[in-house]
Amino acid sequence: MNDMHKASEALREATKVVFFTGAGISAESGIPTFRDKLTGLWEKYDPQRLETADAFRENPALVWGWYLWRRHQVSQAKPNTAHYAVSHLASTGLRIAVVTQNIDDLHERAGSKDVVHLHGSLAQPKCFACHRSAELTPEQAAVSDEVVLVEPPRCKRCNGRLRPGVVWFKEDLPVGAWKAAMSVVKDCDVLISVGTSGVVMPAADIPEIALAAGAIVIHVNLMDVALGGTNELMLIGNAAEVLPTLFGSIGIPEA
Ligand code: NAD
Repeated sequence: MNDMHKASEALREATKVVFFTGAGISAESGIPTFRDKLTGLWEKYDPQRLETADAFRENPALVWGWYLWRRHQVSQAKPNTAHYAVSHLASTGLRIAVVTQNIDDLHERAGSKDVVHLHGSLAQPKCFACHRSAELTPEQAAVSDEVVLVEPPRCKRCNGRLRPGVVWFKEDLPVGAWKAAMSVVKDCDVLISVGTSGVVMPAADIPEIALAAGAIVIHVNLMDVALGGTNELMLIGNAAEVLPTLFGSIGIPEA
């Protein structure tokens, strides 16, 4: 039996399924992953160097400009077949939870409910000093195709600089999000890990935590990212094609 057959058997027998998603699930929507080279205005920048508190302290206008551009890019993107396949599965009676590392809102826009965002959200900036959440006016959220440097707006309470409400490298994950993730990950029959390279800790431990708790883990990725466990299955391919094929194999029509 190949892994696709084994994966459909596992799903047929499951009642509780967790999707653990990464940047790869949004790649088909046109949002680059960290493995893709940037083009255009941001071509010469390495995102991983812009996404730290140190980078923000050193050059807040550059980091704010980068996140405004990412926010704009997400607002222009649409959920793809993979996001819809995930939300559609919840309408079949299975208990579905979605835990994502993504800071976009494409799962929600495809109809998934109660998505756990381990790394925060682009949509909700906060103050760098007092951490209070803030909203941007349309003028503050506007981006330009020619400008990378944008001075961050100031917090209305303490006049600190606004920063994006995402988790930067070396920062802790939001406690509530991690707890919510653990409660579903340790209690699922099947965890489907989609489009994640498994290098950003501690989120990258999630498939192993599910395996240790007795779940079957199905990886969906363009490359083999399996950890070598006996209860792991590897479905290699584009998530937007693999997920509908997998769900079709257990009789669930396309969303
Ligand atoms: P990553 O960039 O490290 O890895 C992406 C993975 O997706 C790779 O393994 C790649 O092979 C796979 N992939 C690419 N296209 C795919 C497709 N069409 N179908 C299936 N798999 C595909 O991403 P990560 O593991 O999520 O971790 C890095 C960090 O990147 C996360 O913290 C996340 O917050 C951040 N990030 C988020 C977004 C987003 O919100 N859309 C975009 C870029 C980076």
